[in-house]
Amino acid sequence: MTPFEILNPSTLGEAYSMLSERDEEASIFAGGTDILGEMKQDTSSPACLVNIASLEELRSVEQRARETAIGSMVTLSRIARDPGINARFPALTQAAESVATPQIRNVGTLGGNLCQRPRCWYYRSPAFDCLKKGGDTCFAVDGGNKYHAILGADRCHIVHPSDTAVALMALDAQVDIFGEGGLRRIPVSELFVGPGEDILSETTLGTGDILTRVAIPHPGLGARSIYLKAKERQAYDFALVSVGGYMEVMDGVVAEARIVLGGVAPVPYFARAASDALRGARASDVDAKVVGQLAVEGAEPMSENGYKVRLASNLVARAVRTLLDMPLDE
Ligand SMILES: Cc1cc2nc3c(=O)[nH]c(=O)nc-3n(C[C@H](O)[C@H](O)[C@H](O)COP(=O)(O)OP(=O)(O)OC[C@H]3O[C@@H](n4cnc5c(N)ncnc54)[C@H](O)[C@@H]3O)c2cc1C
Ligand code: SF4
Repeated sequence: MTPFEILNPSTLGEAYSMLSERDEEASIFAGGTDILGEMKQDTSSPACLVNIASLEELRSVEQRARETAIGSMVTLSRIARDPGINARFPALTQAAESVATPQIRNVGTLGGNLCQRPRCWYYRSPAFDCLKKGGDTCFAVDGGNKYHAILGADRCHIVHPSDTAVALMALDAQVDIFGEGGLRRIPVSELFVGPGEDILSETTLGTGDILTRVAIPHPGLGARSIYLKAKERQAYDFALVSVGGYMEVMDGVVAEARIVLGGVAPVPYFARAASDALRGARASDVDAKVVGQLAVEGAEPMSENGYKVRLASNLVARAVRTLLDMPLDE
């Protein structure tokens, strides 16, 4: 591990200045469960960590008139046990409680979960200078690719590792970012960038940008949501495949639907054809199996991950059936 300096800003503005002045030498330190692993493995060697733990304004959960705003330093444990979040956004509760172990959830934050780096074993190993680290080869193509992408890959075949990102996209969340020019808000889907656009990063955050808050619109009438995660090791593991689903059912008709897949693509994958097939359909006419098949349309599995196509299709079908069966008031 390369020696590093740790800075403790007392305001958001100060944190931004520290990050922009040190540019690529500096990284944000939130709970540290991901970045310290990277530093220990020399995948990343920032000369300076800007510790945002002392910024109290990033630790609040606010129930506003039309949205719930969750600070980026709120821990995953707190999200998992917050009754207000669970009442409105069960998918987020389920995603947060599916992450890792209680110890990691106790320190791991929502911002860190969204901005964590990929788990590809070649990327994490100092022995492989792959495309994502500025090299010229993707070792997963001819190597071990059991956990890699089946959709949306472009030279690099990582899957996005965040559980909460999948749920938040299904819930149509937005994120607030503090950076040059102050605060801006973007849909959570625009936080992520695939390797076709930027192979070195997984987010659209620029120098000095700090994710401050996630805002989730309050659900409409007849709303229901779910997060399902298939894991290889049941005690704790990253998703082989996960599904975030949101639906509004009114008078027996699916008025709104969003299906998002995790563990299959370099970014959380919005299954457009599956979502479109649900929207406007009579709930009693929905064929969940067909929706599952639509969700993986265009999949291009690698040599060892063909199993993900069927797994994803079946998990979507299960999510759709469960959502339609939920006995909620319309
Ligand atoms: C054993 C193990 C198992 C895990 N299992 C899972 C799992 O099942 N599912 C899952 O989703 N994750 C998993 N993780 C990944 C991850 O560590 C946690 O999910 C956690 O939420 C990361 O949050 P953190 O606060 O510790 O992030 P940190 O390690 O502090 O930061 C992670 C990255 O995000 C950046 N960052 C942090 N906060 C911000 C911010 N506010 N604005 C901009 N950038 C920011 C940091 O610079 C860093 O690059 C696992 C990790 C470990 C070690
Ligand atoms: S999938 Fe991406 S991170 Fe993994 S070896 Fe290939 S280029 Fe590197």
